[in-house]
Amino acid sequence: MSTPNPTVQERIAKLRATFIEQLPERIAQARDLLSRLRDAPGDPATLEEIHRFFHSLKGTGRSFGLQKLGVAASQAESWTASRIDSPVESITPEWLEQLERYLDLLASMADRVDAENGGRPEPARKIQKEYNEVYGMDRRGRLVYLCDDDVLTLDQLASQLRCFGFKTMTFTDPNTLHAAVMNRKPDVVIMDIMFPQGHEAGTDAIYALNQEIGCNLATIFLSARGDFAARLGAVRAGGEAYFLKPVRALELVSALDAMTSPQQSDPFRILVVDDEPQVAEYHALILEGAGMVTRSLTDPSRILDELREFRSDLVLMDMYMPSCHGQDLARLIRQMPDHVGLPIVFLSGETDRKKQDTAMRIGAEGFLTKPVNPDDLVTAVAVRAERMRALRSLMTRDSLTGLFNHTTTTQLLESAIASFQRGGGTLCFTMIDIDRFKSVNDTHGHPVGDQVIMALARVLHQRLRNSDVVGRYGGEEFAVILQDTTLDRAARLINELRLDFGRVQFYSPKGTFSCTFSAGIASVARHASLESLREAADRALYLAKNNGRNRVVLDG
Ligand code: GH3
Ligand code: MG
Ligand code: MG
Repeated sequence: MSTPNPTVQERIAKLRATFIEQLPERIAQARDLLSRLRDAPGDPATLEEIHRFFHSLKGTGRSFGLQKLGVAASQAESWTASRIDSPVESITPEWLEQLERYLDLLASMADRVDAENGGRPEPARKIQKEYNEVYGMDRRGRLVYLCDDDVLTLDQLASQLRCFGFKTMTFTDPNTLHAAVMNRKPDVVIMDIMFPQGHEAGTDAIYALNQEIGCNLATIFLSARGDFAARLGAVRAGGEAYFLKPVRALELVSALDAMTSPQQSDPFRILVVDDEPQVAEYHALILEGAGMVTRSLTDPSRILDELREFRSDLVLMDMYMPSCHGQDLARLIRQMPDHVGLPIVFLSGETDRKKQDTAMRIGAEGFLTKPVNPDDLVTAVAVRAERMRALRSLMTRDSLTGLFNHTTTTQLLESAIASFQRGGGTLCFTMIDIDRFKSVNDTHGHPVGDQVIMALARVLHQRLRNSDVVGRYGGEEFAVILQDTTLDRAARLINELRLDFGRVQFYSPKGTFSCTFSAGIASVARHASLESLREAADRALYLAKNNGRNRVVLDG
């Protein structure tokens, strides 16, 4: 898990090489500036340009592990800074000579820099380690091993779990489970505790397995025993949950959900703003190495387009850029209602605490100084992006089911249609409504009704791909956006879900029951506008209800 991503390391090495290759030319440009300053000693623009040159050389040099070059550039930077906003007379021939010596020093370093290999930045460890495992992978098909000597319980639980899209394998004996785990590790083990071999054979078996494989299998224990000793044994064997028999499949599913789906399955999206392309790319690569998705922006005037297109969770921003100061750029972002809450972290060579404080006061979330340690950068960015995600999720998700709410589903449908119109793929929209749901509430009570809504949400969420959008559209109505799916395929898929949902068993004091749903599907191929697509799906759903419910009807 902690092995560096070789391609990222290679790309960083390449960036560094390009930087070194271009050094002599940059220094030559700085010499031109120096001679301009000799001709017109008080010219503030030239002075500032030289200052910026040293400043950025300092940051970039250090970022690429060129410590000595960074130190020399830093001294030259202070030397230049001392004359900014000073009277013309202070720019003496001696002062100019010293500046030239700095340039000579830097030039001689640039010749030898290849040999200076120490301090090469270490690859950052992976923070979003789940990313590789989860991103792009279907939510479907997580593997669950069930082990219980009670065959009836075993089959019943396994068949219920399969309705929610889990892949299951059943074992009646701890030894056969052991062999199966050695052959292929499951995502979760559901384990009985009492077996004919002994009262604690289940916990013993898991404990031994964990010792043998050197890590903790995610385990849920089931038992008829609720006593302290049994529970303690389960905890010691590394159990993450404990259920008393008879156990209900629905409860198991929610524990399985919590154990197998990390909240943050999508990688963080980070916009990196720096006028130096190599620096921007360098930091972007560190973040990508930790599993994030990045976009580099070197021209601050394009920020509005980028914010619109990229949907970033956080902006990592340089302070001193020739066309626009980072602080102004941050203010500009803050003045836009859509981005008031967008975290901004400055990453700058600025070490003056006062200037850092000023930058923080306009609402930046953090200030990091170049060169930043890759691990620190990844941590600082991940922590803030995570908080942003949590806040955003409160606004975009339905609290009962965790699915997208009506507003967000509509927005996602709009953008899916827009991308279809730009000429890509195909798209189906499905409306789903639980059948005779009012009578569930009337018979079993509202809380049990809520259980049914949550179960349907789970069935939909578990069985669909990450690229599909599942939303709770209203009370017991759901919407599903299926990307790159033809009407026929969508029909087959939703029909499978309908059969699965129909098999889920619900319990209440009034008895065991099951529910069904009706669905209407329309394709963007026939309805290219949001309104007409929605109406078509709704009409199809109405037909499904009128034709007897518990069925899927296609538009057209
Ligand atoms: P049909 O098959 O025609 O769809 O019949 P239905 O009974 O499902 O249709 P109707 O739309 O008349 O009833 C929906 C019911 O869903 C009414 C409302 O009380 C209930 N409901 C809406 N939101 C919730 C919720 O969040 N929880 C619970 N338990 N019930 C809800
Ligand atoms: Mg209904
Ligand atoms: Mg309804």
